[in-house]
Amino acid sequence: MSRNDINLPPNFIKDIIDEDLKTGRYDHVHTRFPPEPNGYLHIGHAKAICINFGIAEEYNGLYNLRFDDTNPIKEEQEYIDSMKEDIRWLGFDWEDREYYASDYFEILYEYAIKLIKKGKAYVCDLSAEEIRETRGTLTKPGKKSPYRDRSVEENLDLFRRMREGEFPDGSRTLRAKIDMSAGNINMRDPVMYRILRETHPRMGDKWCIYPTYDFTHGQSDSIEGITHSLCSIEFEDHRPLYNWFLEELEIHHPRQIEFARLYLNYTILRKRRLIKLVESGYVNGWDDPRMLTLSGLRRRGYTPESIRTFCEKIGVAKSESVVDIAFLEHCLRDDLNKRAQRYMAVLRPLKVIIDNYPEDKIEELEAINNPEDLSMGTRKIPFSKVLYIEQDDFREEPPKKFYRLAPGREVRLRYAYFIKCVDVVKDDKGNVVELHCTYDPKTRGGDAPDGRKPKATLHWVTSSHSIKAEVRLYDRLFKKANPDDVEEGEDFISNINPKSLEILNECFVEPNLKNVKPGDRFQFERLGYFCVDTNSTDLKPVFNRTVALKDAWAKIEKAQKNM
Ligand code: ATP
Ligand code: MG
Repeated sequence: MSRNDINLPPNFIKDIIDEDLKTGRYDHVHTRFPPEPNGYLHIGHAKAICINFGIAEEYNGLYNLRFDDTNPIKEEQEYIDSMKEDIRWLGFDWEDREYYASDYFEILYEYAIKLIKKGKAYVCDLSAEEIRETRGTLTKPGKKSPYRDRSVEENLDLFRRMREGEFPDGSRTLRAKIDMSAGNINMRDPVMYRILRETHPRMGDKWCIYPTYDFTHGQSDSIEGITHSLCSIEFEDHRPLYNWFLEELEIHHPRQIEFARLYLNYTILRKRRLIKLVESGYVNGWDDPRMLTLSGLRRRGYTPESIRTFCEKIGVAKSESVVDIAFLEHCLRDDLNKRAQRYMAVLRPLKVIIDNYPEDKIEELEAINNPEDLSMGTRKIPFSKVLYIEQDDFREEPPKKFYRLAPGREVRLRYAYFIKCVDVVKDDKGNVVELHCTYDPKTRGGDAPDGRKPKATLHWVTSSHSIKAEVRLYDRLFKKANPDDVEEGEDFISNINPKSLEILNECFVEPNLKNVKPGDRFQFERLGYFCVDTNSTDLKPVFNRTVALKDAWAKIEKAQKNM
């Protein structure tokens, strides 16, 4: 897709970059994506990745992957590995530019000393609690710390001893000396370092002081020669501080630009909330196909291309809005429609016996692999006397507008014959368990020489040649468009949809699906797009329904056009 495509939304970040290149503030583009390895990446991160890495690619620039690992309490190697896998899957290659904020701890320490020497930072003995209390509010200025005017020598000495482990956790901090009455609370002598004895996943016990996000982020950008630091909107209020540190340190100064976070209805995204779903067992792991983590979307059958198209089409703006999840599904259908091979599968089988079809005969009928792309060719599917159709496709007493099979009625079996229902067999309880039909041999392939046209075409498989499979059907994980819309005292957990997963164990798929591998995707005719789950084995194939065929978004769009 080209940026000049008139269907693409405007991108204000590109306008700023164009201006920076024109005025010579920078002569190239270098971006980064800085995840904190405290969970798995989700679709919101995909937006940030596509913006940072996508823009760098467009300007023939470079992009870095940087793990923002400054909080050793919540960070783990498992998360680092999963993030790398997910970003590669999206199709981005950061080559050898994989960095860790923790690799900069030594330089950051030197930077802190530089600020102390300039009289711009001081060691403060207030507790975290006292710092919070003296910070003031939006309407009230903060109070100066009694330790604010320590001499440079004393500060240098105390800071060195903080590093050497002389003081207990939380007893002292290093703070920037800015302005306790600044309108922006982030500028009221923010903390740069805290004392914390916690083993770091990469640094081990080397450090007992850790820099804060604010003191780490901009300097890391600077060290890596980033030109444009593109992040989500909650960092807007931190930008003055980002700029202040870089100016006071007199080092390379990237430009931070903020964009709106992605929100989707029926979805929660923050990592710490996703952790709750995983750890409390509401879902089966980070890659549960109902989760909008990248690993969940992958397992569900999403293509990386559809996610990138989605991120491109929702556009880049400053104002927050909630995107309809139907639009994500629409981007996926659009992609799969073009490339997914069609197969037939029956999820809730109803046996059909063709009375006038020879007992042992098996015919090979020809089926089109993808009507959207005839170059994908055709395949053979077996037809025989005993078949399965979908239970839903038969009604003993058909209501109005139900055109599928019913007693005495004729329908077309896709790529096969017209069949007519002549008898219905029921069990003791009155459930329909078997249908007897006759077929018309002259309709082979699906057309009648006399031109008659049944009103319905059904999918089917043979009972003798099909493969038994498990199929997992998914619905939204939350019942409400806004999962946070809850009664007092409850949280999003109370909006979990108890019917979000349905497992069908008695499904049949056509024999051409014999050698499928986890991750393979296709369309089951009339049922939706499916992919092979990671739990799948040769003995028991497992398919996830990625998305049904009905396109809710296309309907919404049509309704909008008619408004
Ligand atoms: P979360 O708690 O959901 O993981 P986060 O912002 O704490 O969010 P980080 O790992 O710190 O997660 O994020 C890395 C980058 O991803 C940040 O620059 C952030 O701006 C961006 N990001 C995170 N969530 C979203 C979102 N929903 N939409 C757009 N960008 C996001
Ligand atoms: Mg974070």
